[in-house]
Amino acid sequence: MEVYISANIKQDFIVSKHTIPLSNGRKINWPTAVTLLLLHIGAVAAFFFFSWKALAIAIVVHWIAVGWGISLGYHRLHTHQSYQCPLWMEYFLAVCGTLTLEGGPMFWVGTHRIHHAKSDQPGDPHSPVLDGGFWAHIGWILFGETNHNDTILMIKHAPDLSKHRFYYWLNTNHWVPPTALGVLLLVFGGLPVFLWAGCLRTVYGLHATWLVNSATHMFGKRRFNTRDDSRNSLIIALLTFGEGWHNNHHAHQTSARHGLTWYELDISWITLKMLRAVGLVWGIRTAKVDSQVLQKAA
Ligand SMILES: [Zn+2]
Ligand SMILES: [Zn+2]
Repeated sequence: MEVYISANIKQDFIVSKHTIPLSNGRKINWPTAVTLLLLHIGAVAAFFFFSWKALAIAIVVHWIAVGWGISLGYHRLHTHQSYQCPLWMEYFLAVCGTLTLEGGPMFWVGTHRIHHAKSDQPGDPHSPVLDGGFWAHIGWILFGETNHNDTILMIKHAPDLSKHRFYYWLNTNHWVPPTALGVLLLVFGGLPVFLWAGCLRTVYGLHATWLVNSATHMFGKRRFNTRDDSRNSLIIALLTFGEGWHNNHHAHQTSARHGLTWYELDISWITLKMLRAVGLVWGIRTAKVDSQVLQKAA
């Protein structure tokens, strides 16, 4: 059974009033920059080592990392608690999330909750309206204070996750699962599989996710009159398993369903319905398309 939620619903958690300074004077974050540069070089090299096997493995790993880890895990479950599932599955989805190199669960959840609290207003870590498309896409990662490993700092933005020792460990050691996966891909798949399912898959997943931060606050249609500049985009939804219905999402943050009509394809919503059918997921919260958001436009 689905629980319908109304517009203007408030999040169940309180975002701290003490926002984290996400700009450190725009000095480049060298470890992140070098890692991203190497990954991009590997992604380009992948095209010189094409094989169907490598492509197929890359697609599967991409679905697990971005589809399960980010869309179903970090975003719809860990940040917005839009459905319930067994604890082992929550942990598993969080491990999948780390495979994207988007940081640990407390960092991701904390940053995203700040985005919702301050959307397109001062304090938003990645707003193209305030700081331009480049900053919203990758600038905030390269030049901002990303706090990936500062678990203590992220606790106040993710107090619910901080009750779990596992999330503590995973947030501090978020590099362990993707590094282990990279080693396994290289040892058992060889260089083509490593380049496709390791490098190119990671780069593709990062840019797809970053497009939600940049493009869906710039291009697309607005169904709901939210106080931010969020938009709905079919292209971004196709790239991200349904995360591109971003205006719907900003209007109904706790809805597990982002594509609200039959023509708004939302792979994660379809996946959730299948998981519900086999009893792995319950207590799903959904929004209705004809609901209204009464907040004033910013
Ligand atoms: Zn947004
Ligand atoms: Zn969200």
